[in-house]
Amino acid sequence: MAFENHEVWWVTGAQLLYGGDAVVVVDSHSKEMVDGLNASGNLPVKVVYKGTANSSKEVEAVMKAANNDEKCIGVITWMHTFSPAKMWIKGLQQLKKPLLHFHTQHNAEIPWDTMDMDFMNLNQSAHGDREFGHICTRMRIRRKVVVGHWKDAEAQRKIAIWQRVAAAWADAQDMLILRFGDQMNNVAVTDGDKVEAEQRMGYHVDYTPVSELMEYWKQIKDADVDALVEEYHQLYTCSEEILDPSTEAAKKVWNAAKAELALRAILKDKGAKGFTTNFDDLGTNDINDPMFVGLDQIPGLASQRLMAEGYGFGAEGDWKSAALYRTVWYMNQGMTKGCSFVEDYTLNFDGANSSILQSHMLEICPMIAASKPSLEVHFLGIGIRKQMTARLVFTSKVGSGCTATVVDLGNRFRLIVNDVECIEPKPLPKLPVASALWIPMPNLEIGAGAWILAGGTHHSCFSYDLTAEYWEDYAEMAGIEMVYISKDTTISEFKQQLRNNEVYYMLNKALC
Ligand code: MN
Repeated sequence: MAFENHEVWWVTGAQLLYGGDAVVVVDSHSKEMVDGLNASGNLPVKVVYKGTANSSKEVEAVMKAANNDEKCIGVITWMHTFSPAKMWIKGLQQLKKPLLHFHTQHNAEIPWDTMDMDFMNLNQSAHGDREFGHICTRMRIRRKVVVGHWKDAEAQRKIAIWQRVAAAWADAQDMLILRFGDQMNNVAVTDGDKVEAEQRMGYHVDYTPVSELMEYWKQIKDADVDALVEEYHQLYTCSEEILDPSTEAAKKVWNAAKAELALRAILKDKGAKGFTTNFDDLGTNDINDPMFVGLDQIPGLASQRLMAEGYGFGAEGDWKSAALYRTVWYMNQGMTKGCSFVEDYTLNFDGANSSILQSHMLEICPMIAASKPSLEVHFLGIGIRKQMTARLVFTSKVGSGCTATVVDLGNRFRLIVNDVECIEPKPLPKLPVASALWIPMPNLEIGAGAWILAGGTHHSCFSYDLTAEYWEDYAEMAGIEMVYISKDTTISEFKQQLRNNEVYYMLNKALC
């Protein structure tokens, strides 16, 4: 049900050269294909047939309507007959929604014995789609091209990926990220141009004083906190100490629950889809002040749980990661293995299995946990308030996934994507944090080396379910650079790609 408020429009290109009867057949073929796609069960977003477009006026009208329709997240075009592409110019100039060009055909195999000219007139996408492709390329229209018969599961899989990305793209266009406090001082990679980010990727970032969060905190009712603590006890493995309300540990869990309720309240009230925190700004500084109004540490448990609920999160003021995590979560809806904000924490040199421990001080999303998380309270000696605080502790599932980050290079944003393989970690009895252990593809030496050469962050947004194809579609919609580190990457080719891109983006001002 995650994508039920979205729809994708299907527009069939045709012309009146072959007479009205031909257009009637084109129309019935199109309906059958759209119905077939919707009935396949392979597409997360409903496809709505918008009829044939037979003239420049009709193309322009449907593209304008797509722009203005709240539910429409993208347009699929298919040229049933040879649709002279000058008639697409004005409409394509107007279109602001993502475009997928589906190079398919109503008929699958050539009916060798019976094929005549009438059949040919109604199965012309082999050349019609090339005419359309030409005008898109000439106009520098960014789009995804999918080639395959409409009943083919592989073609449907590619459309499904694009639909999920288009849905997340639509979601990002009115995304508000609340930044509680500023960036962690002096950190370069998590900062950047918020004006350009809004122009390029859609989301808006607002500074929000922690004192404003505290106004919500003050309104939280004790009974609601008690109820949430009870929910924690049901959901997570808890020690006797945490279950006993008289202990200091239970009090910290209670404070964490109150922080979660306050954060959710302000996010809902402002219509925000994500947030960042900063351990140097937690409300009133003196925890021993009788008038103390503040968090007893960074709200780690709240961040973990809000991430699982779909709120974007970035630590230390990392608003780009907060927005990207929301996009990852949005695309990931209904998939099984989960996603998380992560940080490259520490290296494990072990020959061919050399890996990186992915963790954070507290904030890893429990959706990636291999088993029931443990709710624990431990000391966290960083930031303005060195205190005991609650967090969920777990290790991640084993399996392959993909991680991504966006950095600001000064003249453009660069999306960096790396396939990773999560492997079995060892217990960390002295480091009670949630974690994953992964080998960046093709190995630590090349994977981490390429990431560093690309200028990638120590923060990234990880998913088991998404692949580089999602990110390719995302970069295409946003019009940002993407570099992909995979099992086939070599350092010398990757460096050459970075050099080539530098020139490409310097010359292509429209993308900078
Ligand atoms: Mn961090």
